[in-house]
Amino acid sequence: MARKLKFGVKEESLLESVIHLTSLRENESLEISLVTTLNWMIRPRKIVLYKIYYHLGVKEVLPEVVLDDAGLVVHFDECDFEAMTRLDSRAAFVECQTTRKAVVSKSPCGSADCYDYIYPVFGNREAVIGFFEVTCDQLNETSDKLITGFLDIYHNYLSLIEDSQRDTLTGLLNRKTFDNNIAKIIEIQQQADMPQKKRGPRRRKGAEDGSHWLAVIDIDFFKSVNDKFGHLYGDEVLLLLARIMEKTFRQQDKLFRFGGEEFVVVLAPASFDDAKNAFERFRRNIEEFNFPQVGKVTISIGFVRISYHDIPSTFIGHADEALYYAKHNGRNQVCSYEMLVQEGKLGTVSRESDVELF
Ligand code: GH3
Ligand code: MG
Ligand code: MG
Repeated sequence: MARKLKFGVKEESLLESVIHLTSLRENESLEISLVTTLNWMIRPRKIVLYKIYYHLGVKEVLPEVVLDDAGLVVHFDECDFEAMTRLDSRAAFVECQTTRKAVVSKSPCGSADCYDYIYPVFGNREAVIGFFEVTCDQLNETSDKLITGFLDIYHNYLSLIEDSQRDTLTGLLNRKTFDNNIAKIIEIQQQADMPQKKRGPRRRKGAEDGSHWLAVIDIDFFKSVNDKFGHLYGDEVLLLLARIMEKTFRQQDKLFRFGGEEFVVVLAPASFDDAKNAFERFRRNIEEFNFPQVGKVTISIGFVRISYHDIPSTFIGHADEALYYAKHNGRNQVCSYEMLVQEGKLGTVSRESDVELF
């Protein structure tokens, strides 16, 4: 969903701009600040910051921040599949990603002296995670250096923010990020899936009923893994489990290590069956994996439909209850809170769980 944002474009010195950019702690503000700063320094016709996403196995490009010559910033959220286009639908994107260098082409803007300059945007592990496009008359060397300099600062700073949002052992998002962002994640996913909004054929399969899901995942008998093999092998299990998690879920799903041997997944729009299948697939992938030295490990999962009317502690509590049920009924299984309530196996009234979770 695109949001038009008003912003105060304050003319700042170069140093002030850098200070401002590095005072931001949040990716969205950082992106908008980068675009607006370079806009008043370069005065181009248009600037677009694109991000690359994997959607249904294909690399797609989303114009995350667009600043047009009317000075209006439009911010697209990452679940806006309709605003995405295939990366390979534009030769300049493919060339920029391959060469990792800026690509210049004549702009289709109509004017004879108008060019599109596309710069690569680098992410945490030096991968190209997006493109920075400046549409303008020919850029001089100073402007080119300004852009690459600011993109370097952006890259370094993004890496720092990324690191602070992630758990050091597994690289998954950490508990603090969950606490700070859960409301926003749900809001974005909710907006992306508004039932009243007409969506084209590109709408994600399975999102028809507009539901979002939260699962809590806990390794079965993990204490005995540590006791038998030692903490180092225990840590290796946590690390490999996180990698399998990343392979199992999609880019728009948010994966967290909550601490210890406990994980949380916030699943982007999916039907009940698709959500259950995704969690079941993860449970099976773990069950089938041979962990070095340790051998077989299993997990229990409790999941719940996210209700926009509830506060996070309510739906987390419900997922926790479903996990509690799984633990006390054989482990190595996926339990849905709603199904358990429907089957009379759980009451609708929350109670304190004695599974050590949060
Ligand atoms: P259950 O099936 O009921 O979940 O049993 P469990 O043994 O997994 O549960 P319990 O809560 O008793 O034990 C969790 C263990 O997780 C205890 C602790 O040694 C281990 N653990 C927590 N954090 C880490 C970590 O960062 N590294 C390693 N290696 N072990 C950890
Ligand atoms: Mg456990
Ligand atoms: Mg536990």
